[in-house]
Amino acid sequence: MALSRLAIEGIGMTSQRTRDRMILRLREQGIQNEALLAVMRKLPRHLFMDQALATRSYEDTALPIGHGQTISQPYIVARMTELLLASEHPLEKVLEVGTGSGYQAAILGKLIAKVYSVERIQALHKQARALLDELAYRNIRTSLSDGSWGLAYEAPFDGIIVTAAPAEIPQALLEQLAVGARLIIPTGKQGEVQVLKVVTRTNETDYQEQVIESVQFVPLVRSERL
Ligand code: SAH
Repeated sequence: MALSRLAIEGIGMTSQRTRDRMILRLREQGIQNEALLAVMRKLPRHLFMDQALATRSYEDTALPIGHGQTISQPYIVARMTELLLASEHPLEKVLEVGTGSGYQAAILGKLIAKVYSVERIQALHKQARALLDELAYRNIRTSLSDGSWGLAYEAPFDGIIVTAAPAEIPQALLEQLAVGARLIIPTGKQGEVQVLKVVTRTNETDYQEQVIESVQFVPLVRSERL
């Protein structure tokens, strides 16, 4: 598997030049965080996709990763990460809900000391874990669980990023934010307009909400029981 992946590098579509073009596009789209752009410039996004789609990896589009799920377009991944990094609260430990391919987690893993990522579909969880191991990430903990409950035993988090959309923001995620920390989350029903929000915990009991832009995400699926 590792070999055939490496072989893809030869195609050219997945080369450094293609990633450089992606970075130029992200800059044109308003992404400014240099540390983030440097990470995205290096990280081989195509490794996180099915080989059949590898040549399309750097297009500015969401692509299927199996099980009815999608990896977000590079712009949205960059935007959400930039919003997280803009936090005034120091970012030592963050939670991602919706591991999917592991691409977003891998970006976070290069920028933040401790990353926790949860996924509810076992096959995706396993595949992402295997790839993150192959890429030698030691600071990303992945687990198979329903992220609408957050990850209580590791809380509080210095930031939380959710890559699937609930109709309403789950209470547990708000409660697991450290004071001063922010939650980056798309919300809205499927088929209706969804919006990306930044919710900052201003003190023990108060939260401030900011609407960023309209987005389209797969649903955050809640399990019936825990
Ligand atoms: N961040 C991912 C994007 C994955 S798409 C990446 O970089 O590839 C969203 C993911 O959220 C899907 O894999 C989906 O299975 C997962 N998901 C949906 N509801 C969830 C829940 N309640 N808990 C954990 N993961 C969930």
